[in-house]
Amino acid sequence: MERKKQSLRSKLSISYISIALICVLLISIITNVLLEKHFKDYVISNQERKNKDTVFLVSQMYNTENKDDEKWNIKAIENICVRALEQGMIIKVTDLEGKVVWDATQHDNEACQKIIKHIADNMNKRYYSWQGGYEEKNYSLYKGLSKVGTIEIGYYGPYFFKDNDLEFINTINSVLISVGVFSLILSLIIGAFMAKRLSNPISRVISTAEMISKGYFGDRTKEQSNTREISQLTETINNLAETLEKQELLRRRLTADVAHELRTPLATLQSHMEAMIDGIWKPDSTRLKSCHDEIIRINRLVGDLEKLARYESENIILNKTKFNLTDLARSITNNFESEFKNKNIDIRFFGKDEAGNDLFVSADKDKISQVIVNLLSNALKYTPEGGSTEVSVKEAENAVEIRVRDTGYGIPPEDLPYIFERFYRADKSRNRITGGAGIGLTITKSIVEAHQGKIEVISKLGEGSEFIVILPK
Ligand code: ADP
Repeated sequence: MERKKQSLRSKLSISYISIALICVLLISIITNVLLEKHFKDYVISNQERKNKDTVFLVSQMYNTENKDDEKWNIKAIENICVRALEQGMIIKVTDLEGKVVWDATQHDNEACQKIIKHIADNMNKRYYSWQGGYEEKNYSLYKGLSKVGTIEIGYYGPYFFKDNDLEFINTINSVLISVGVFSLILSLIIGAFMAKRLSNPISRVISTAEMISKGYFGDRTKEQSNTREISQLTETINNLAETLEKQELLRRRLTADVAHELRTPLATLQSHMEAMIDGIWKPDSTRLKSCHDEIIRINRLVGDLEKLARYESENIILNKTKFNLTDLARSITNNFESEFKNKNIDIRFFGKDEAGNDLFVSADKDKISQVIVNLLSNALKYTPEGGSTEVSVKEAENAVEIRVRDTGYGIPPEDLPYIFERFYRADKSRNRITGGAGIGLTITKSIVEAHQGKIEVISKLGEGSEFIVILPK
């Protein structure tokens, strides 16, 4: 089943929002956990300190000098205890005999109950599984070194939050919620903005690619982007269009060329035959010979086509051996020598490495000879009398180079990119005389590339050409 496709925009927005949500949630959880832990510790130690302060204060309210029933300053104790009650502490003071000096519950039981209930409600409301309860702690009251009574402090334990403590925690939480909402909105805006910046150029490249796929190979995308991938995409699409345009051009040229190649000999044959049938010409041997020549021409063209099909249809199977390239190139050059001499072209050969040794290469010997033969026969065909040709074999970085240089006609710059294509011939009129069908270099290039090598050409019109074959060792 095909998966539902999401747009870049929604994908980006979703990821931005998720990141913002996760961050805010994490921060909120961590803040709450840390805050409550520290707050709890603080509240517990604060409670202990308050208990001790109260014990001290109350013990100060005992005066040994006074008469028995006036030893406790009840008024002051009441002040202290009422204030403590407001802070959630319920105090009961008894003297040594156990007689109650002051008791918050006796003083105002209703207020005590209300305060404890309020605290319990606060805590239960906030913490669902709250396990707290009312606790009482007893301390002895000392005046100097002697014990004068006992104080019982009751409060809601193990700790509790007062109203303003809770307010503080709530404020922090609402700040966090606002930050969350704000970052959600921000991430939506940034996500949409980023997605637009990314998807707009991609959409434009897509529409160009669509045009190209419909056959408008001349279309190019002018998209300029500072996003590396997008500019690579643009470049690739443009290169693709260029390759397709070139291929299309070649295909058309190829058909036209084949038709043209066939038309001339066929037209000659037809007119000769018709003249003979009509009795205008006698079918003598000269006339028949000229017809035969045209048939040979057609045959050669068909043969070339077949050869090319063989080289191009399958991956060339290489029969690699290590052989002496210097020897091979020298002997091919020697074989060509007489033909060059006949045309009055000087031919030279160099083929040693820096130490003066012969160069060896691991390759298909027959196919490499075909390469050298093709390059040399081109040099012969396209160099006028009195010129010179030089064949050299040299060592290169992890490779060997075969160079064939001539002082021939050269190749026009506009033809240079095409000379390795099938049936491409730079100078059509001259080539009809020389008889090339324009596939020698195509075959040469396929052989070199099958060896993982490279073939390059440097040429200047009217000055000459140099073909460089680089073969990995
Ligand atoms: P052809 O059978 O026409 O020689 P090739 O594929 O060998 O076919 O070469 C293609 C074209 O490249 C030639 O038609 C010619 O125009 C040009 N060319 C090849 N080699 C040379 C050269 N050494 N000097 C000038 N032009 C060349």
